[in-house]
Amino acid sequence: MADTLATMPFDEALERFEPVLGLETHVELGTTSKMFCGCRTTFGAPPNTHVCPVCLALPGALPVANDKAIESTIRIGLALNCTIAEWCRFARKNYFYPDMPKNYQISQYDEPLCVNGYLDVEVGGSTVRVEIERVHLEEDTGKSTHVGGATGRIHGADYSIVDYNRAGIPLVEIVTKPIPGTDRLAPEVARAYVTELRELMRALGVSDVRMEEGSLRCDVNVSLMPRGASEWGTRTETKNVNSLRSVERAVRGEIERQAAVLADGGKIVQETRHFHEDTGATTSGRSKEEAQDYRYFPEPDLLPIAPAPEWIEELRSELPELPSARRRRLQAEWAVSDLDMAAMHNAGAIDLVEATVAAGVPAADARKWWMGELARRANESGTALADLPITPAQIARVVELVASGALNDKLARQVLEGVLAGEGSPDEVVEARGLRIVSDEGELTSIIDQVLSANADAADKVRAGKIAAVGALVGGVMKASRGKADAGRARELILERLGVSE
Ligand code: ADP
Ligand code: MG
Ligand code: ZN
Repeated sequence: MADTLATMPFDEALERFEPVLGLETHVELGTTSKMFCGCRTTFGAPPNTHVCPVCLALPGALPVANDKAIESTIRIGLALNCTIAEWCRFARKNYFYPDMPKNYQISQYDEPLCVNGYLDVEVGGSTVRVEIERVHLEEDTGKSTHVGGATGRIHGADYSIVDYNRAGIPLVEIVTKPIPGTDRLAPEVARAYVTELRELMRALGVSDVRMEEGSLRCDVNVSLMPRGASEWGTRTETKNVNSLRSVERAVRGEIERQAAVLADGGKIVQETRHFHEDTGATTSGRSKEEAQDYRYFPEPDLLPIAPAPEWIEELRSELPELPSARRRRLQAEWAVSDLDMAAMHNAGAIDLVEATVAAGVPAADARKWWMGELARRANESGTALADLPITPAQIARVVELVASGALNDKLARQVLEGVLAGEGSPDEVVEARGLRIVSDEGELTSIIDQVLSANADAADKVRAGKIAAVGALVGGVMKASRGKADAGRARELILERLGVSE
């Protein structure tokens, strides 16, 4: 079927239709060796150097399951509030594609290791509970590269090459139940869910979850139903969306596209779609009619998995503090509002503020600098806060200089600017740019004398008892010192010099 490019504006689409989401996330585990053989899993090795008879599927090779991967999957399941199966099996998913040398992938089918969990995500000040259908363990495929075409896809390519280093790396798939009721927040809920999941994986230490390297990949399912309808619409599945921003855009784009199709009397075809970074739109992939029958059956070369209940309880008791609990704890420690906490979370500032507080800075100051001046600069340069070339320890030093009276806020901002520009540590920048507050009496007095003679009118007013006029003189001193004077001390000295007491 030809793809139409028509879209309906998001707001209108939401007035007429209700979206339902479903997210399938693949996480490559950070185990040292592969799922069913001893090959290394390091990213970026020369092609086809981490391979052996098992992951190349040479005749007679037999798989052995990686304990550590099973343990990590159970920990993920526990952190997602799932029930862990007492007994389950691997299954063969039969298909041929050159990146899967065995003709089948070892996966799990109707007996997943973990089922029926949930993950709470915070969006727009409220909590949305995303229910988890299943968490299962499988092996990753190799990576094909199609050379010569314009799109990087197989169509139009001159030739294709394949790298089996990734084939057989343990891969966990986390599938949500359908998520209804998110309405106009659907794109944000999808993004917040993947963000929370990524943080959870990091806290568990089971994966480096780098979306840009493919160790976390997301398939985004979306359907629409007319408002008030009782049955969900037909879903599409947008494959391998590889950034958080793209997850949000893919949902939004699909809502806008499906709404236009439905409003035009058309039908949504159940199919996979590809997301295009440049336009934010999706295009048609493979439809369900063409989908193959995988002829799943229990993997005969592997033993069933039967984790002992005591082991599961031990793993449960050893789970680390999870990201949502940690945020609640920090929010209480820092005494900030839900809104401020959410803003810090969205800006990726929580770890930075925490490290700055650990370096001895009051929470309010740490938050002020990271969410104010530094967030502004990160925004301007289009970098993530964490990627700014400045450390929590350096912020702590700047705050210390302000507290001791050596810098005021304005000078502190210049120090930060210098550090960000690579001019060195805060102390080096203060030194090189001469940014210390002038509180030295002699230097201040000579600036004050200049200002008094240049502003004789204002000086006369103050002498005559109009103390309010001193503001202009202090302003003059600040200007003449290019912001470096200690304003309070300057005011005292001016009044003293004019023979006025308050
Ligand atoms: P498949 O193997 O076809 O990808 P899965 O069961 O693995 O199917 O995943 C389908 C995903 O789509 C799940 O997250 C599921 O909750 C979600 N889903 C199912 N029905 C709908 C629907 N009508 N609208 C949106 N999402 C749906
Ligand atoms: Mg699927
Ligand atoms: Zn191998």
